[in-house]
Amino acid sequence: MAWSERQVAMLAEMGLRVWQPAGAEAPEPLAPAQTMSGAPAAASPTRAAAAPLAARPAPAVALQAEPGSRSVGVETMDWPALREAVAGCTACKLCSGRTQTVFGVGNPRAHWMIVGEAPGEQEDLQGEPFVGKSGQLLDNMLRALGLTRGEAAPEQQVYIANTVKCRPPGNRNPEPSELAQCEPFLIRQIELLRPRIILAMGRFAVQSLLRSTEPIGRLRGRVHRYQGVPLVVTYHPAYLLRNPEDKSRAWDDLCLAREALQPAS
Ligand code: SF4
Repeated sequence: MAWSERQVAMLAEMGLRVWQPAGAEAPEPLAPAQTMSGAPAAASPTRAAAAPLAARPAPAVALQAEPGSRSVGVETMDWPALREAVAGCTACKLCSGRTQTVFGVGNPRAHWMIVGEAPGEQEDLQGEPFVGKSGQLLDNMLRALGLTRGEAAPEQQVYIANTVKCRPPGNRNPEPSELAQCEPFLIRQIELLRPRIILAMGRFAVQSLLRSTEPIGRLRGRVHRYQGVPLVVTYHPAYLLRNPEDKSRAWDDLCLAREALQPAS
């Protein structure tokens, strides 16, 4: 990708490093990562030394399912049926406080997929993931990489979904049982989309997709695998708004995702 002077200036303002294609000047070594709480974490493995995780490893998080009234047959649904099933889902108690479900946004042929955590207040009101300030930050970072959630060629498009589709009251963390009940919807979205790269943003996306309770700071900086699809872990934009010093690391993660993008089969 060719960078305009304006883009480079904008990224520099944000403290972000510009992605360079393979063969370009090697990037600076990554600085030591931090946990979500901001405390220093053990140094992340280098990209070259990182071993991909096995697809869908055994749970490290105790996800407890509880009875509910989620539609059956999610695993065979097409996009319209899946959207309808989510809209009518009452499988966990989050259904009682929602204004609407937040299914996901983007072209179903997008090459990139971003998985976030749970809808917040604005997402619940607008029915779209990543709106408000964190959505603006995400859109800016995607734009700097030539990506969009809007109309574009599939290789430039991002499909965005959350790990749970209903807003937890008071923006509390989703509970393990709620994550478990909602998980089949996300799994089916990934199966239908068949993305070439997944960006897992935030703790709960990572817990669902990688079954890992390790801090983001220890998981980022290398390429994992989910069902054979390259997966890169990074910070949630809401976290970056509170911790702008980590924006450069998030930009490194986006650049890593670009490098790991699965080629067309
Ligand atoms: S969060 Fe998911 S499982 Fe719970 S009611 Fe909403 S759509 Fe259903």
